[in-house]
Amino acid sequence: MKELIIVFLISVIGIAAVSAIAGWAAWLFGFSFWGWFGITSVMSSIIGYLWNVYLEKKMGVERLLLETENNLATAYQNVEVVCQYCSTKNIIRLALNKDNTFKCVNCNGINRAIVSIVTARTTEPIIADEGLKKIFTQIKELPDTSSKQPAINTEKIEITK
Ligand SMILES: [Zn+2]
Repeated sequence: MKELIIVFLISVIGIAAVSAIAGWAAWLFGFSFWGWFGITSVMSSIIGYLWNVYLEKKMGVERLLLETENNLATAYQNVEVVCQYCSTKNIIRLALNKDNTFKCVNCNGINRAIVSIVTARTTEPIIADEGLKKIFTQIKELPDTSSKQPAINTEKIEITK
């Protein structure tokens, strides 16, 4: 709110200054100072208002484009899946809105990844003690020692029906 008042005051002072210069220039040529001051004030207010409307619209469009880009970037998830022919682990790019077929890196068998959604209750850890908190942090920082990394397969095959 405070910033809004400051911006408003700066606008009013700016318009008054420009109008005073216009009025003074007009007065030099024998025209009415206050007449030209008034006309310039009204005109610059209208132009300023229209400019603000244009900027707001432009920013709205840019925000929408950014959101769309962001949605596209996060549309894929890399997931680990097991080949149904040879049980080799594959990492594929999974999308919820597409047919997720892939070719196995080991046997070239064509698989389809099917997505099923499950829900879970949200829980929050209750850590009363600082010492416990430290232990939890250390556990989280331990390196991942799970089974060896599967071959990465980012290739996707589109099957036409
Ligand atoms: Zn396979």
